[in-house]
Amino acid sequence: MLYIVSTPIGNLKDITFRAVETLKNVDLIAAEDTRHTQILTRHYQIDTPLTSYFEHNQFSKGEYLLKLLKDGKDIALVTDAGTPGISDPGYQLIQLAKENDIPITVVPGPTALIAALTASGLPCHNFIFEGFLPVKSAARRKKLESLKEEKRTIVFYESPHRLLKALKDIEEVWGDPVIVCARELTKKFEEVKKDSAQKLREHFTKVEPKGEFVLLVHLGARNS
Ligand code: SAM
Repeated sequence: MLYIVSTPIGNLKDITFRAVETLKNVDLIAAEDTRHTQILTRHYQIDTPLTSYFEHNQFSKGEYLLKLLKDGKDIALVTDAGTPGISDPGYQLIQLAKENDIPITVVPGPTALIAALTASGLPCHNFIFEGFLPVKSAARRKKLESLKEEKRTIVFYESPHRLLKALKDIEEVWGDPVIVCARELTKKFEEVKKDSAQKLREHFTKVEPKGEFVLLVHLGARNS
């Protein structure tokens, strides 16, 4: 059986009983970064062996994990934070397992996009998750242009290094909409700020953007 296990996005206590039990009982944990996952396994006294499964070894490692699964081993797939496959490795292995009729089950739990969406105060009944915006400005602006008429709440992941550039492009392409910026959710410096893209840019020009960010916007009222 392949278990797809969600892990905390910051606060180590955000893990389900079933996730801990699963991580204890499987034969192997396939982790994006074994050193990172060790923080979690040590905290919960989980002594299951770990092996790495990340973006750049997912093809070769996928075949190896598939062989173990075919031999009857139980494997849990985890990433550094949140839910595997969500802007993280996982999809290729899950697809491979499915193609080979390996039983799969999901052990659901945290994911930053849902935590941010529920904390944002923006409409949640309909939303679109775009993952990370393109790194290059031309591609980013093209993506933003393509979403100009979007009526649902739009959710992006963003890195602290690109936050200011992304806010600038959002301001210019979307005409300075109200943005919710959810930072460091479940951690010590958790912050959910709602302001215009320009005001947020001014703020993060003075205060260096640090940590992990989710950006959310609802152009819906404007587009309906
Ligand atoms: N698989 C993860 C999930 O389920 O949310 C996402 C992994 S992705 C590589 C990492 C991005 O998720 C970060 O750059 C940030 O945009 C977002 N993220 C993860 N943890 C977060 C947190 N505690 N607060 C805000 N955003 C977070």
